[in-house]
Amino acid sequence: NKVYDVLIIGGGPIGLACGIAAKANHLSHLIVEKGCLVNSLYNYPINMTFFSSAEKLEIGGIPFVTTNPKPKRAEALEYYRRVEDKYDLNTHLFEEVQHVNKDPETTLFIVVTNRATYYARHVIVATGFYDIPMQMNIPGEDLPKVRHYYDDPHYYAKQNVVVIGASNSSIDAALETYRKGANVTLVIRRSEISSRVKYWVRPDIDNRLAAGEIQVYYESCLSEITPRTVKIKTATKEVELENDFVLALTGYRPNFSFLEHVGVHVPTTDARIPLHNETTMETNVAGLYLAGVVCGGLNTHLWFIENSRVHANLIMQDILKKSANS
Ligand code: FAD
Repeated sequence: NKVYDVLIIGGGPIGLACGIAAKANHLSHLIVEKGCLVNSLYNYPINMTFFSSAEKLEIGGIPFVTTNPKPKRAEALEYYRRVEDKYDLNTHLFEEVQHVNKDPETTLFIVVTNRATYYARHVIVATGFYDIPMQMNIPGEDLPKVRHYYDDPHYYAKQNVVVIGASNSSIDAALETYRKGANVTLVIRRSEISSRVKYWVRPDIDNRLAAGEIQVYYESCLSEITPRTVKIKTATKEVELENDFVLALTGYRPNFSFLEHVGVHVPTTDARIPLHNETTMETNVAGLYLAGVVCGGLNTHLWFIENSRVHANLIMQDILKKSANS
């Protein structure tokens, strides 16, 4: 059986950066991705524009060329696909890692997917956080009209749409669906829109709210969803609105059970940041590393492509240092 120097779980931008860094350091690698290439980006809203400028999304030193001030989802898909191809990475798509165990005798990792079993000296978990939406835990949340992922605004034309949340995803969805003729109500837990909303989007949402073109309830949350209505609990009262769709863009969280399953210690308190050494990215399991946005635990704003692409080189340096010492 072939033993890979590095097996990377997740074919997102940072998983690919790890594959490139492995290749650059003459380490054999395999990237295992459960969906399509850069699966999270593929599942972003169809018209999504990044908050980062293109050069900050670059990996492997390959220029990300765009004529837009900030690149769009479709351009990022082109970019990462071309980069993966250019570096001729060893990427298996639509294959899910289910178990990772360490053989106590050989100290090799045994990685079991839905298709095969692989052996590796090192494993990098670069699984992101986009697979598991944060739940509201209210009655009616499981109705089919409630969506945790927003895709295309056309679908919501002429519908009563409630958008929950105050961050970029929610504000983009509210503005886009409003422009396709939806009757949009924003429900925001805090007393204002997030300061992280893209600076060029901010005046647009402020003006739509000021003009009453998009309704907003601050310091409010949904208390119940029925097939034709929603109940909104504000600081002072409960309001019932006619409703066709709820876009609950309430954030996402890493797959903590998968991390625990592979042996990584995940604290139960605060941000639940999985245990790892910040200079080497190694976890409490020797030879098993974290890379990318998964490192932030519940604090999903801590890491993004721009600041986590460096994880790839930190990991390779540690692997090389340990190999040299052994
Ligand atoms: P991901 O891209 O999430 O990749 C993880 C991969 O692991 C996924 O493809 C997933 O399918 C796969 N996976 C998970 N579990 C398994 C398993 N068991 N087996 C196999 N594969 C598995 N960042 C920026 O820097 N700039 C931006 O402008 C920006 N805009 C964003 C906009 C939105 C709407 C969102 C949600 C995020 C944005 N981010 C941005 C954050 C950015 O998308 C993430 O930082 C980026 O996707 C992280 O890359 P990653 O490789 O760490 O994780």
